[in-house]
Amino acid sequence: MNALVEAIANLSSLRDRESLDFTLVTLLLEFVSQPVQTVKLLRLAGEAGDQRWQTQASLSAGQATPTRDRIWVNFNTLPHSQDYRDRQRCVLNGEIQLISGASCFTIFPVASSGRIDGVLEVESHSPMALPDQALITSILKIYRNVQGLLDYGEKDSLTELLNRKTFDGAFIDATLHETKDLELTQPDRRLSQAGGYWLAVLDIDHFKRVNDSFGHLIGDEVLVLLARLMRSSFRYNDQLYRFGGEEFVVLMRCTRAGDAHNALERFRKRVEDHDFPQVGTITVSIGYAPLLPDDTPGAGFDRADKAVYYAKAHGRNQVCSYPELVARGELAAEAADDKEVDFF
Ligand code: GH3
Ligand code: MG
Ligand code: MG
Repeated sequence: MNALVEAIANLSSLRDRESLDFTLVTLLLEFVSQPVQTVKLLRLAGEAGDQRWQTQASLSAGQATPTRDRIWVNFNTLPHSQDYRDRQRCVLNGEIQLISGASCFTIFPVASSGRIDGVLEVESHSPMALPDQALITSILKIYRNVQGLLDYGEKDSLTELLNRKTFDGAFIDATLHETKDLELTQPDRRLSQAGGYWLAVLDIDHFKRVNDSFGHLIGDEVLVLLARLMRSSFRYNDQLYRFGGEEFVVLMRCTRAGDAHNALERFRKRVEDHDFPQVGTITVSIGYAPLLPDDTPGAGFDRADKAVYYAKAHGRNQVCSYPELVARGELAAEAADDKEVDFF
C-alpha cells in the first residue's frame, strides 16, 4: 500500500507529458493485482471521418520501458478508429468496456480538456476484478488532474492553442534535435529546397480595426474562430501556438519541398473565404522559414517574422517565404549572409 501511495505521489509530481504517460502505464502494470500482459494509453488523432489511434504509451510485462508513437508519426500509418469497435464504444458512451476471449481486454475512457478523446486498454489473461477496475479508475482521475495542470500552464486560455512559453520550452529542443537527421546541411539543398521542419508566423491584418469597429469581445471571438480554422486546416501533429495578441505560430514537419507553402496558402485562402459573424471578412499575412540544425527557437522565429513584415509591407493577405525573399534579394543581403555562414 505504501509503495502504491509513493508511486501515485510520484505520478502527480510530474510536469512532462511523456514522463506522465510512461509513468502511468508502468504504475498500472505493477499495481493491478492480477497479472497483466499489456497496458496501452491511446488517444484519438485526426478529424471526424478519419480518426486514428495514436499510442501515447504502451508497456508489456517483461518489457523494461514503455514505447510510444513518435510525435511526427505519419498519420496514414496509424490504425483506423473504426477498426477497434470496443475502444470506439468506450469513447462514445464513456463507460468501461470488458471484452473476454482468449485474452481479456478492459478499456477505460480517458478525457482531456473536458471531453473523452482517448482510452486506456489493459490486456490480461482473466477478466479484470472489480477492485482493480476501481483502482484504475481512481488513478486515471489523478492522471487527468495532472494533465489539467499541464494544460493550464501550456495553453492559451482564450483559444486553447499552445502558448508562447511552451514554444520556448522542451518541445522545440526535441524538434531541433531531429533536424540534424534531415540532411539539411548540403549547400546545394539550400533553404528553399529542403523538406524538414518549418516555422510559420501568422498575423491577422488590420485587427485593430476589428476591435475599434466591433469591440473587444467580437475581436476575441474572431481569435477563437481563427484558432478553430487553424485546428481544422493543419495536420493533427502540426504544433499550433498563439504567440500573443493576434499573432500565431505553426510548427510543421513537411517531407516535400513546397508542402509547407501549400498548407499555409490553403489556410490563408480559407480565412479569406470565411464569413466571421458580424465582422465579415478578415485576412492574415503569413511568413515562414525552415528550421535548421543548431537553430535556436528565436532564430527560426525571427526569419519567419521578417517574412511577415515583408508581407505586411507589400499588400498583406499573402504567404511569404523567407528563403525565397532572400534569394530574390528582397530581404537584406547582410542578414542573409550572416545566416548562411551560421547555418551551413
Ligand atoms: P497589421 O495588419 O499591421 O498587423 O495591423 P493590426 O491592426 O492587426 O496590428 P497592430 O499590431 O497595430 O494591432 C494589433 C491589435 O490587436 C491591437 C489590439 O487591439 C488587438 N489585440 C491584441 N490582443 C488582443 C486580444 O487578446 N483580444 C482582442 N480582441 N484584441 C487584441
Ligand atoms: Mg495584425
Ligand atoms: Mg501583430
